[in-house]
Amino acid sequence: MDLTRKLADVSRTEKSLFLKKKLRELRLVYQVDHITDRYKNLVSLSSATLKLARKFFKCEVSAILVTDRVARHRQFYLALGLDESDKDTSFRLKELMHKSVTFEAGEEIVNRLQPVTAKPTDYILVAFPVSEQLCGCLLVGNREKTWDEEDLHYLRAIVSQIDNGLEHAFLKQKYQRSRTRADRETRKLSFVYEISLSLGKDEDFSSLCRRILESAMQLVDVNRCSFMSYNREKDELKTEFAIGIPFTRSQITFKLGEGLAGTALKEGRPILASRGGKDVRFIPYDNNIENIPSVVNMACLPLIVEGSPLGVLNFSSTEPDYAVTNDELAALEVVTQLIGLAWQKQRLYQISIKDELTGMYSFRFFKTRLQEEMHRASRYESALSIVMFDIDFFKKFNDKYGHMAGNLVLREFATILNDSVRFGVDIAARFGGEEFALILPGTSGEGAFVVAERIRQAVEKTTLSFEAHSLHVTVSGGVRQFAAGMTLEEFIKSADAALYEAKESGRNRTKVASA
Ligand code: GH3
Ligand code: MG
Ligand code: MG
Repeated sequence: MDLTRKLADVSRTEKSLFLKKKLRELRLVYQVDHITDRYKNLVSLSSATLKLARKFFKCEVSAILVTDRVARHRQFYLALGLDESDKDTSFRLKELMHKSVTFEAGEEIVNRLQPVTAKPTDYILVAFPVSEQLCGCLLVGNREKTWDEEDLHYLRAIVSQIDNGLEHAFLKQKYQRSRTRADRETRKLSFVYEISLSLGKDEDFSSLCRRILESAMQLVDVNRCSFMSYNREKDELKTEFAIGIPFTRSQITFKLGEGLAGTALKEGRPILASRGGKDVRFIPYDNNIENIPSVVNMACLPLIVEGSPLGVLNFSSTEPDYAVTNDELAALEVVTQLIGLAWQKQRLYQISIKDELTGMYSFRFFKTRLQEEMHRASRYESALSIVMFDIDFFKKFNDKYGHMAGNLVLREFATILNDSVRFGVDIAARFGGEEFALILPGTSGEGAFVVAERIRQAVEKTTLSFEAHSLHVTVSGGVRQFAAGMTLEEFIKSADAALYEAKESGRNRTKVASA
């Protein structure tokens, strides 16, 4: 209606001009509509809008700012066509847009920036409410371009079309950010939990360290990670294992002070090489191999426990989008400390559960594990047996050949025992002195007897040479199968009684305790 009346009032040329303008506006609105329909992400929606604005106004620069009115720091800014090196213009534009959104929403501002370069630079911008909470500002600009009311009209047409899309995208981003942050927090927690579970487990340091690092990689944006151990005698940093790097390529060694890793260890502090492979201290794995993705970012953290350098943890990235930040370096320092702690605990634990002479499990560990196996056997009504061994006439043996020869025999017996049991299932321990014991889960008394006899016979057949002597010993064994309701002490005592019986009936034999 309005349009028809307007058209009636004006001359033919004016009419055609007006229609042309209207058509241009409609086309613009249609295009913006298409963009908001297609792009739901804040960056892609904004950049598509900014590209369209540049094309439509035939101008160099376009920029957008979306701010949360309450939390002002929460904002989104994107500019296209700005000369990156011209920090001054960029800063002034952003300032200008900031100021504009502090005005009452909906109020338009036409602003003319003072020339910041030799040439005058003109901009127009419009501030608009995005939602109750958000306000935005759209700016277009060009050197030596004069903007008029009509341009402002088109600019307004654009903003009236994108507000809904912007609001949606802004909130979506906010939600996603907090979710990523929450994800990381969750991961951090589960990471610490995992480590706490790992500590104190009978696991070698290397595999423990690998597991910790695998989880640590989830905390930071890197795609490669390695652990280099330091050998003080050889003055050599050597890769123990690597994640995300082909094994052959990880076989590099450094001396203290060499490469980024060697430097970090020598200086005793982490290095964040934000230039990655371009860092002067960086030494590549192999110069001769082509097509190696270059390292764009690398963090090296020395692992120093009780003042002694143990090694270096390396985190690196070959993807430009992946990089360790300063914040993340702090998180990685915590990881390094945890690994150091894990190492200490692991060592103490190994010392406490292992017998020094034979490297076998100690009596203490034996009791703990036996109790666990007894619970399991009761719960699942599964078989469980133990065997006790004692070397025959060992006192005499020691008296004849000396304590050193005795120790040699003890070590040999430990080897025979370890070789005779199922790896990862059975447990062989040194009970103290020349007494040894086996825990055989899932094994009946008869089964245990077979195992014990095999061991006894192996010992019988073995001859060791020590100085000028040929050493030979025999062992006696006592077997007991677990019966529900037995206490740990009763269980062990019963096996011991069978062993006593074997001794009494002539030694070098195995007896099974009756239930
Ligand atoms: P039996 O056949 O009755 O077992 O006679 P035995 O002489 O072995 O008797 P007993 O078990 O009483 O003696 C244990 C001996 O084992 C005492 C000690 O000389 C020796 N022994 C214990 N621990 C060690 C050790 O760590 N090294 C060495 N070399 N000998 C040990
Ligand atoms: Mg004994
Ligand atoms: Mg003995």
